[in-house]
Amino acid sequence: MITMHENPVRYALSIGDDILQVNGLINKQLEFYFSHKHFCYCDKIVDKVYRNNFCYDCYFNNPAAGDAIFRPELSKAHLGIADRDLEFEQRYQLQPHVVYLANSGGLKVGVTRQAQKATRWMDQGANQTIVLAETSNRHEAGLIEIALKEHVADKTNWRNMLTNNFDAVDLLAEKKFCSSTWLRKRSQIDYLEEPDMFHDVFGHIINCNWQPGMGTLIPKFIFGTNN
Ligand SMILES: [Zn+2]
Repeated sequence: MITMHENPVRYALSIGDDILQVNGLINKQLEFYFSHKHFCYCDKIVDKVYRNNFCYDCYFNNPAAGDAIFRPELSKAHLGIADRDLEFEQRYQLQPHVVYLANSGGLKVGVTRQAQKATRWMDQGANQTIVLAETSNRHEAGLIEIALKEHVADKTNWRNMLTNNFDAVDLLAEKKFCSSTWLRKRSQIDYLEEPDMFHDVFGHIINCNWQPGMGTLIPKFIFGTNN
């Protein structure tokens, strides 16, 4: 899917050598024919595809289908540990990421690279979005997402999205999880002028035993472990 950030957003499908402008098809009657062929990103035509339309070889070997793509919290490039291809993973994972709330047929939480957040939201058909946290790598964003998944869905409700059957959500009101939205670097651990999530957790929440899950969340944020 090709998305163009215009008003309204423009969508196009790349089919073989053709580019199909989808916006021009709105309110027109369409007929689909399934050729039973799947095109993988590697240009192979296969009978069966796996998650994100990867063929068997790509799904199990390509770094673009590695653990951290689908589960950001499993990122290991910040530790210098390879999953499939450390150079690819460092390039992909060690860049600013955001944790966001989006309304795409219901409220959901997600993680994406800072540089391509608008594209991600257009791909998902999000009607409203708000950034909850900015992190310096994918791993940190993944940990925040895991904590938020206990409160918010992480999947798009596509049935509601396709039928335009969703209510506007006050995303600012839903932003009740973080009073700050970013995390300092390890080198800034001792002092920082501007309050961040580290400040809020250690300065204001650490003694709040009423907050379920906080006891495991803090060590995860700081040390990457439950201990
Ligand atoms: Zn492939």
